[in-house]
Amino acid sequence: METNFSKEQLKNHDNKSSEKIFRKCVHCGFCNATCPTYQLIGDELDGPRGRIYLIKDMLENNKPANEKIVKHIDRCLSCYSCMTTCPSGVNYMHLIDHGRKHIEKTYKRPFMDNLMRNFLSKILSKSLNFRIIAILTQIIKPFWFFFPSKIQKMIKLMPSSFPKKTMPIMETYKASNKKKPVARVALLTGCVQKIISPQINEATIRLLNRHGIEVIVPKKIECCGSLSHHLGKENDANKTFRNNILIWYEEYIKNGLDAIISNTSGCGTTLKDYGFIFRSDQDLKKKAKKISELTQDITEYLEDNVKLNFIEKNKNEKIYKIAYHSACSMQHGQKIHKEPINLIKKTGNQVVDIPDGHICCGSAGTYNLLQKDIADKLLKNKIMNIKKVEPQFISTGNIGCITQIANGTKIPILHTVEIIDWYTGGPKPKALEKL
Ligand code: SF4
Ligand code: SF4
Repeated sequence: METNFSKEQLKNHDNKSSEKIFRKCVHCGFCNATCPTYQLIGDELDGPRGRIYLIKDMLENNKPANEKIVKHIDRCLSCYSCMTTCPSGVNYMHLIDHGRKHIEKTYKRPFMDNLMRNFLSKILSKSLNFRIIAILTQIIKPFWFFFPSKIQKMIKLMPSSFPKKTMPIMETYKASNKKKPVARVALLTGCVQKIISPQINEATIRLLNRHGIEVIVPKKIECCGSLSHHLGKENDANKTFRNNILIWYEEYIKNGLDAIISNTSGCGTTLKDYGFIFRSDQDLKKKAKKISELTQDITEYLEDNVKLNFIEKNKNEKIYKIAYHSACSMQHGQKIHKEPINLIKKTGNQVVDIPDGHICCGSAGTYNLLQKDIADKLLKNKIMNIKKVEPQFISTGNIGCITQIANGTKIPILHTVEIIDWYTGGPKPKALEKL
């Protein structure tokens, strides 16, 4: 794609990076074929190629965003399916992030929209705030019909109770039965996840400890920053990124870290991008790059580094049919697909693919709250496809997908790590109690 940035514009490091990406695009439109919003809406501007044109036009012409541009950019799920399809290696993720930053700087959103986005950025990323809001939501729940549709959706998605934690909150979880751990890793326990599904972190820690790995969870790290980042809120996101980079890097230098483990693929995708985000920051670029290099999804880490001790099955034991839902951030954002499937297969159960598995379930961070209609359609299609393969339960690696899919079906859904923990000596996951 031809670009026309001036020399002055290219002094800006974001413009300079985006220009290189625009130049890779050859307008072929292959990406439209796998874009969920293009498939549903059929408008060129609701596909990746159209959005790339909109972003390029704003940046090259120093044009402030307008209502039309914002509508099409906001409808993008950031699912990155287009990046998997693109034959030219266009990094759409960096373009849409740049586009969203530009919108945030140049466009005044309607009052309610602005309020909702600020609310989501501030509330969801802090576990205490989230807990308070969830309790308040229960009080207003009987009056849900008085609220605008976006708030109604939020009320519906808020948990009515919080599962009890079975593990104490500590900064260091020692490896079991080992004087010296075989490895030492940091775990990102996430902002929302640790409140609504603490069993995911507990299964992760138990599993790692049982295999001789020490796990540290620094108290001052809560959120990876992606919620604010995807809402275009650069200042809030950067504050979180900086905090995390400095804490993990200090731990890495002082006590040594073999990996930073993420068990939420949306967060993992952002951690792996810290190096790019701080590429021009003289103080942080080396540290941010190191944090990105150390980051691994839990399934990636287990498959590549850990000899798992699976419990021998007896002959009469049930073999389950498990549908593996590959979260977009996992398969398109981090290009991890075979690792979780291989791990589940090692449990002796059957793993089945979900038809159209490359298409998003509609969760996409806060998307299901902000773009309710599209998210609902995507969920309906996802459930229809899951039902076609008749699984006994569903496995995935992202809390957002778990919450979204559980909202559309009674088929149990759980995190892949809970299955692996169970088959290597952990307790049977609660979600499967009735099976
Ligand atoms: S990220 Fe997903 S929704 Fe956005 S343009 Fe790419 S494929 Fe379409
Ligand atoms: S597939 Fe890649 S090169 Fe082709 S239009 Fe889409 S982004 Fe551009």
